[in-house]
Amino acid sequence: RKGNVIITGASSGLGLATAKALADTGKWHIIMACRNFLKAEKAAKSVGITKENYTVMHLDLSSLESVRQFVDTFRRSGRPLDALVCNAAIYLPTAKEPTYTADGFELSVGTNHLGHFLLARLLLDDLKKTDFPQKRLVIVGSITGNTNTLAGNVPPKANLGDLRGLAGGLNGLNSSAMIDGGEFDGAKAYKDSKVCNMLTMQEFHRRYHEESGISFSSLYPGCIATTGLFREHIPLFRLLFPPFQKYITKGYVSEEEAGKRLAQVISDSSLTKSGVYWSWNKNSASFENQLSQEASDAEKARKLWEVSEKLVGLA
Ligand code: NDP
Repeated sequence: RKGNVIITGASSGLGLATAKALADTGKWHIIMACRNFLKAEKAAKSVGITKENYTVMHLDLSSLESVRQFVDTFRRSGRPLDALVCNAAIYLPTAKEPTYTADGFELSVGTNHLGHFLLARLLLDDLKKTDFPQKRLVIVGSITGNTNTLAGNVPPKANLGDLRGLAGGLNGLNSSAMIDGGEFDGAKAYKDSKVCNMLTMQEFHRRYHEESGISFSSLYPGCIATTGLFREHIPLFRLLFPPFQKYITKGYVSEEEAGKRLAQVISDSSLTKSGVYWSWNKNSASFENQLSQEASDAEKARKLWEVSEKLVGLA
């Protein structure tokens, strides 16, 4: 049978390119988990994913209720779950003030980390049950959260501190809207959320890989300077960023190439190792990359897991 893969945020950019790459193999049925149903349908059509290869299911990661409803809807579809890809993200670099999810968490961390944390935790049971030969859970990371890289050293740098803001509810009322308890900064909130994504992947690996056989991984697909992620940025940035990445940093990858990379992490039989953060070199060959000290801090990962469990109502 075909594999069934859920991809969050498959309505644009990397998620859509990955859906396309997997659909083209003829071996996968893609569940496009998206907040905008019509946009997702149009996106699937625009890249030529055929009807029998995908299903759009509503998911708004900025609402825990929506995450729970999505899981119910998916289970009622009767499909086994063979792979889950936590890909969706928002980036609000020009926001002056924090905005919040339905549950009152700062929007970038609430969506990119907490929404995905609940989703992945709930769907773990489904992944455990499948008889598929290789079960995978991929959480998309980024170089920007890695302070051991050049890109990760562009201020404001990611830093989760002692998680005091998160532990306080990340709500801007009785706690800060930032994980480390500091002043709101939209660009930093995104980078912090990506560190959470990479820490969560490793904590999943430590807790569940041996018992379940599921491969947990993260990746940096390259700089896909053309996606909607930069839609909130100032116009001059949006104009100059793609050529800057293409000709100066040479980190640029097309959406199509990035989609092929993520598709490899989901389905290639040579990328099954669990607990790995994948990257690609200039010749598009994959390798196991190193994470920054903070993004590989096991003690912080455990604490993040426990605090996140409380916030999403699992503990
Ligand atoms: P896009 O903005 O093109 O795609 C993001 C997707 O997330 C969209 O489909 C968007 O939906 C969806 N999304 C946003 N908020 C929600 C929500 N509340 N509920 C459900 N879905 C939501 O960006 P990219 O393709 O660039 O980003 C994809 C991933 O790649 C992210 O995890 C990002 O951190 C990562 N990444 C990107 C890099 C880049 O250079 N672009 C580099 C490294 C990592 P909608 O279509 O409705 O807006």
